[in-house]
Amino acid sequence: MRVLVIEDEGALREQLVQSLRQAGYAVDATDRGEEGAYMGREYPVDVAVLDLGLPDIDGLEVLNRWRDAGFDFPVLVLTARGRWDEKVEGLENGADDYLAKPFHMEEVLARLRALVRRSSGWATRVLMAGPITLDTGTHQVRVGERELELTAYEYRLLEYLMLHAGEVISKTTLAEHLYDEETDRDSNVVEVLVGRLRRKLDPDSDFAPIETLRGRGYRLRAATTDA
Ligand code: CA
Repeated sequence: MRVLVIEDEGALREQLVQSLRQAGYAVDATDRGEEGAYMGREYPVDVAVLDLGLPDIDGLEVLNRWRDAGFDFPVLVLTARGRWDEKVEGLENGADDYLAKPFHMEEVLARLRALVRRSSGWATRVLMAGPITLDTGTHQVRVGERELELTAYEYRLLEYLMLHAGEVISKTTLAEHLYDEETDRDSNVVEVLVGRLRRKLDPDSDFAPIETLRGRGYRLRAATTDA
């Protein structure tokens, strides 16, 4: 999951970046509205955290530019405490949720998880595909009764595939949503990662949860089956 953070307060931005990375997101961040507006158009953003008070252009202007250009990824707006007018304006301008400063990091993480799930059509915290269950809150993953130990990247990969279960996803798209702009991305790495995840999900080749579609990418089987 790729998250874009636009926040000009240095310490807060760093805290957001660290917490989001720890929570398993690929994170791109900036302190400028212009640059943020550009990143939102050019990067494959899954969700954005947008501060409204920025030094160059207003956060609302950034949001307007994205929405006018047809970008509809969910946006969590950060407002100054007590600025109800900002909240209303933000929601009217296409923000999906807002949070007043100061806030707890857990609150940001919970809001973002909810936004990402909703934009993928999931109403609940626990995602399911066949015998696989993934708890987006605790990061616990099970196949039937068996609990899996996944690395951070294996978890990211599985979460992305589950949020898009039934869709064909190219290696390039996967790489773009798993790694931030500063990370060297290579589709071979995605292949290796998919291989490792497959062996953990399905060590005895019982139900082959991840299909390979030659030249097109991967697809997680969406149908619920007995493990
Ligand atoms: Ca600010």
